[in-house]
Amino acid sequence: MAAAHRLLALGRSVQILEATDHVGGRTRNVDVSTGQLDAVTDDVIELGGTWLSPEHSAALALCRELGIEVYNASFVSSGSAVPEDAPRPHTSGSEEAWPWWFWGSDYPKDQTHLLKNTVFHDGVRRFLFRTPSELLAGLTRSSVQELQMAGKAIDDAIANVSDSCWDAGKVTASWRHLDEESTWSFLNGKLSSQASKQALRNCIHNKNAQEPEAVSLLYNLLSFKGCNSAGPDSQFRVRGGTQAIPMTIAAGMRDKIALGSPVQMLQSGSTGIIARTLNGTEYRARAAIVTGPPPAILGINFDPPLRAPDAQLLQRMPMGTSLKIAAVYRQGPWWRELGLQGDILATALPKEFSLPEPDSEMPLFVQCLDHSPFSQRLGVIVCFMEGRQNLHFMSLAAQEQQSLLTAFLQRSFNDSRAETFQPSFVALNWADQPYARGAYTGFFPPGVLSIPEYWEAFREMEKAPNVFLAGADYHRGFGNGYIEGAIRDGLLAAERAHARLLSSQVGQELLV
Ligand SMILES: Cc1cc2nc3c(=O)[nH]c(=O)nc-3n(C[C@H](O)[C@H](O)[C@H](O)COP(=O)(O)OP(=O)(O)OC[C@H]3O[C@@H](n4cnc5c(N)ncnc54)[C@H](O)[C@@H]3O)c2cc1C
Repeated sequence: MAAAHRLLALGRSVQILEATDHVGGRTRNVDVSTGQLDAVTDDVIELGGTWLSPEHSAALALCRELGIEVYNASFVSSGSAVPEDAPRPHTSGSEEAWPWWFWGSDYPKDQTHLLKNTVFHDGVRRFLFRTPSELLAGLTRSSVQELQMAGKAIDDAIANVSDSCWDAGKVTASWRHLDEESTWSFLNGKLSSQASKQALRNCIHNKNAQEPEAVSLLYNLLSFKGCNSAGPDSQFRVRGGTQAIPMTIAAGMRDKIALGSPVQMLQSGSTGIIARTLNGTEYRARAAIVTGPPPAILGINFDPPLRAPDAQLLQRMPMGTSLKIAAVYRQGPWWRELGLQGDILATALPKEFSLPEPDSEMPLFVQCLDHSPFSQRLGVIVCFMEGRQNLHFMSLAAQEQQSLLTAFLQRSFNDSRAETFQPSFVALNWADQPYARGAYTGFFPPGVLSIPEYWEAFREMEKAPNVFLAGADYHRGFGNGYIEGAIRDGLLAAERAHARLLSSQVGQELLV
């Protein structure tokens, strides 16, 4: 949608072909007051991509341009989504010195005093913390030391990665070495306690929505280095929900959007592009920008076929396994009256809240946080179910999922209101969405990022003459995997396609 927006501004005409019945892809709003999906109201929460960091300059600029408000969601008090003394969006705040493995919300230093308590379960007890030093004091000294040593090993490994993040020209023998290992094979031997192992597993879930065994060490070194995102990632939210961004763009071009139109065939040749959708309708254009996660792209029949390195690369970019489940309280965010932020983290839980064998040491819930809407009329706690937790959770009946989550929240909040206030639930499992097949993004297993031919394929946006592949998963710069990367890549693809058409002087129409 960002590409279409830019192309229209450049004077091109566009046609959007969207597989589903809504625009926005992996951003999806639900109004928790009415249950309506794809809504833009002050009672909206996001089921997909949500938070922006002050470093997400393209997303913030696009919101400004579209007249969409971005607000600081970290420190909310009842009746006001943005407290008077909280720094406003668009000011870049330095991050608090949270431990490198911390998988909770990260906050700028100058806002720590506004924080309420986070709940931490370590299996033996439940403790509260507000600052990094309180968190460290709650853990055993040996776990902290182990994690610090693992962090030192990560830093040493990062020193072997070149300055550039996504530059194919930098493939070297040391990249190859770092890409031979999974994130887990590198870290596991450096940790002995279950608590530190689980903390690290949770940290990787937070980045990849996947188990660390499946993800290349090199890929996560790039991530730790800040190639994907940086800054306090959970600070800003979009008023009306992130889906307001594509929906606002769409509102200005309704007659140019064909919903429910999955592209099944994309033919490119000397006479231009032909896209055929599921119902057989054909659209013709001079150029096409193709977007969607790798599994969706692989479902399109390209003619001529994708080049081998492109087809092979796309098969080596699996999606994370992510589900957000939200508990919605009509009574509002009542936990704040208890001095609680609404954030809950766990490295271990009693048996009834743990995974079955062979993963019985792993907690079922590892991260929940306050996701209340801008209005603050309803209180929302959202829990991330990723990797193995996702697979197990989805094997349970909806009623069992909800009663487990309710009981876990009761245990976490430890207050009679958690017993009497009955939440309702909203959930979306991205892994079973046919045009996403997972989330947050495509990641790289070992042995992909160190192959020069895959880098070549990754670097080249134009997959066939006048056919451009764009999106968060493919962005070769800051924001890869994030809304920021989707917007940056869309804008770039629009510029590239526009320039290509100018140079070949073949006319105006584009298909996005
Ligand atoms: C649970 C979750 C949490 C996340 N959290 C954050 C966060 O807090 N901050 C952040 O920045 N990012 C976050 N992300 C990631 C972010 O949402 C995505 O990276 C981004 O939205 C991807 O945008 P995209 O345009 O590249 O792809 P998509 O959003 O996937 O858009 C691709 C579009 O193409 C359509 N499509 C696919 N195949 C076809 C076809 N054959 N024909 C026609 N149309 C097709 C799809 O339906 C979709 O509308 C999160 C994602 C999820 C799901």
